Amino acid sequence: MGMGACNRGVTSTLSGELELQARWFAGEFGREFEGTNGETVNIVQFGIWNRAAGPDFVEAAVSINGAAAKRGAIEIDPDIRDWERHGHSQNPDYENVVLHVFQHNCAGRLFSRTASHRLVVQVQLPMGANTGIVGGPLARAGRCAPVLAARSVSEIRATLLDAALLRFRRKAAALRRTGEVHGENEALYQALAMGMGYPNNTLPFRLLAQRLPLHRLSQDPEEAEALLFGVSGFLPTPNLAALSPETRVHARKLWQHWWPHRDAYQALQIPAALWRLHGQRPANHPARRIGALSALVRHWRALRRLVAMNDWKRCTTFLCGLAHPFWTNHYTFHSQAAARPLALIGEERIEELLVNSLLPFNGDWDKLVSMRARGRNRRSKTAAARLLATRPDTKKLLAEAACQQGLLQLYEDFCRCDSSDCAGCPFPEQALSTVTGLSGC
Ligand code: SF4
Repeated sequence: MGMGACNRGVTSTLSGELELQARWFAGEFGREFEGTNGETVNIVQFGIWNRAAGPDFVEAAVSINGAAAKRGAIEIDPDIRDWERHGHSQNPDYENVVLHVFQHNCAGRLFSRTASHRLVVQVQLPMGANTGIVGGPLARAGRCAPVLAARSVSEIRATLLDAALLRFRRKAAALRRTGEVHGENEALYQALAMGMGYPNNTLPFRLLAQRLPLHRLSQDPEEAEALLFGVSGFLPTPNLAALSPETRVHARKLWQHWWPHRDAYQALQIPAALWRLHGQRPANHPARRIGALSALVRHWRALRRLVAMNDWKRCTTFLCGLAHPFWTNHYTFHSQAAARPLALIGEERIEELLVNSLLPFNGDWDKLVSMRARGRNRRSKTAAARLLATRPDTKKLLAEAACQQGLLQLYEDFCRCDSSDCAGCPFPEQALSTVTGLSGC
């Protein structure tokens, strides 16, 4: 990026940035623009307002010079220099940004590029008075929202359960396929590992479980944790002097087990760039999750006995009670000890492990239908804002875990495949004509 002299001294503030995003999302600036290189830029869909780390709007669609709309993210900054100031050019989370929008430009030519040196199309917005808008929904209501709003609660519930059953069967089939190749135990272990990595680190956790299969880790539980940390790349360097005394003791023990295997496993180490560490709550740091995975491996037989018995109450109690001599009290290798013991696997994570892995593994659909949902994650909130925006009973419907699962399936099958701002989405017509046999992309 070439840095020129700016024609205005602008300091970006959080409220200024939020206001700009809110005005953009409200459509105040329109949807047709001229890019800084003279391109014709058409915003086909404004996307989802991302309140977590990463670009400001995800799942947007933008057409450049009349070409087919490209799905990706949009970053909005008060000042063109914010792209570099905020480190977006080095952050892989910004790799799929298709448009950088800003208000204040500089006299020289500044480019927005991604970590792989791809140039991002830029649009400069006109200056305008502040409106005081700083909030708003995560996403716009979709074309299907009025159709679904006109349905009775039993019809909507039937549609959601229909989609949830499809989702459940797909998960069960995926587990079965992995089981046929690697064995049932490995299939469940891989699924649970991916669940520990949800939402941002499912791929590195999957790789970790594939590179260190359960049958290998079960040979020596003392060694298992060291291998997991060694292959993950999270093991601190051999010079442990900077660590707190109790962390040093734990890290030294891990190193003693890792040394003899280091050469054999070095080539299998997960690339550091695959781990997503931005925007994670400390308790959800992947290092802690790896510590929890090592505890699961250590107690695998007990867990499998409970799963085989379909005893979900005891299974939940068992997972809630899992502890680890180091990770129950630490967020990372470099943090101070926590003031109070931390759950090794939190209640929300346990619910997700049940819904996404354990129940499909046993094919226990009836349990899923009877489950209450503890909360709603960002994705289900976004899906609700798009599909169920105008229903007064949304909260009640989504208190059922199966209904949440159905909503997520509809969102994935229709919204995530759409780049026409709902215009070409077949779901509203399907929802009008039938409550069964939905087919998305
Ligand atoms: S893309 Fe389809 S399913 Fe999603 S909000 Fe639009 S009309 Fe509804």
